[in-house]
Amino acid sequence: MRKICLLGATGSIGKSCIDIVRQFPQQFRFTTLSAHANIEDLYSLARRLKPRSAVISAVEDIEEWRRRFHKIGVELQQGMPALEEAAADTEFDVLVNAIVGAAGLKSTLAAIQNGKTIALANKETLVAAGELVMSAARKHNAAIIPIDSEHSALWQCLVGENIDQVERLILTASGGPFRDKPKSFFRKVTVAQALNHPNWDMGAKITIDSATLMNKGLEVIEAYWLFGLKLEQISVVIHPQSIIHSMVEFVDSSIKAQIGLPDMRVPIQYALTYPQRLLNKLPRLNFIEFNTLTFFEPDTVTFRCLQLAFDALAEGGTAAAVLNAANEEAVRAFLGEKIRFDQIPHLIEEALQNHSNHRSVTLENIMQSDSWARNFVRKNQ
Ligand code: NDP
Ligand code: MG
Repeated sequence: MRKICLLGATGSIGKSCIDIVRQFPQQFRFTTLSAHANIEDLYSLARRLKPRSAVISAVEDIEEWRRRFHKIGVELQQGMPALEEAAADTEFDVLVNAIVGAAGLKSTLAAIQNGKTIALANKETLVAAGELVMSAARKHNAAIIPIDSEHSALWQCLVGENIDQVERLILTASGGPFRDKPKSFFRKVTVAQALNHPNWDMGAKITIDSATLMNKGLEVIEAYWLFGLKLEQISVVIHPQSIIHSMVEFVDSSIKAQIGLPDMRVPIQYALTYPQRLLNKLPRLNFIEFNTLTFFEPDTVTFRCLQLAFDALAEGGTAAAVLNAANEEAVRAFLGEKIRFDQIPHLIEEALQNHSNHRSVTLENIMQSDSWARNFVRKNQ
């Protein structure tokens, strides 16, 4: 029986994780569930799944809720520090971090310091603080297993392989809903259009990131830190069907790909059972139905965000923390209909140009750059 602390239980990844855990009641149990604002959903999940504790990070007045949770045998905690305390708890075996945004960083670090295994969906943790997180993980002997489908694919392709014999990682990208559109189209994109992803059903922030291709940029940075290769060894190919989840090319020219239907429950389950696999009831891929797989070069001029991510990674220091925070704020502003879709890359680029980079990537410098970038975008939107 593996005990799981699930942060971000009410989100898209959180719900898929719950779906998997419920298929294997003999193998997994939740000790803690968290949500940010959605306390009603957190309560119904707690009633169903009976964790020992629950954390709500944004709601303030919780006395009545605390009593209600107490009645169902669940201890309710409140606030961001409570989230870190939950991650620092010794009771669980695996932290599933399914929080969206750099808000997930401190809880990941707390679990690492605790020497726990982390099943990581929260890619922003690695984008903002990859160097810090990976060196802490090495120091505390904490395993970080990716949930992100591309990185799970790479991870699966690398099982039994020697990382020194990898020539390059090939991340696939669906290209999002605007793959074929000219740049001029981006001025008029509505929130509803951008939220309509062709292949994946995900939270709002990552869906917008997929439409700008920033998601692939964040994933390049995520792969860089997870697998420890050179930036030149990471490439991106547009593959609209999302059937090949990513590939590894080896020095002998052989390529391994991980293939399957686009369903996040597969990489979530793998992160929970690694290095084992468990028989499940998920739909199987029919090759006859998906008999055409196509591939294109990404257009980094039209989709500037992807280029900005490569540039921020090459720049190093706190540039990627700024890229990430500026993107989070710009996406929030777009979702709130305060800026146009085509302003997202502009705001991020301006933030990167105006930022004074901290070469030393301490947590303090990362947090400072993160809040500087958020303020910059808010002031300039
Ligand atoms: P959602 O927006 O659906 O869910 C986010 C979860 O995090 C919710 O439980 C939310 O609580 C909680 N949350 C939001 N803001 C905060 C905060 N400031 N502090 C603490 N908790 C917070 O996101 P997704 O599930 O789509 O994505 C989660 C992460 O997984 C992201 O990093 C994303 O990039 C990554 N990912 C997602 C994929 C997907 O298919 N969805 C695929 C690959 C990676 P509440 O409901 O109360 O707001
Ligand atoms: Mg992904």
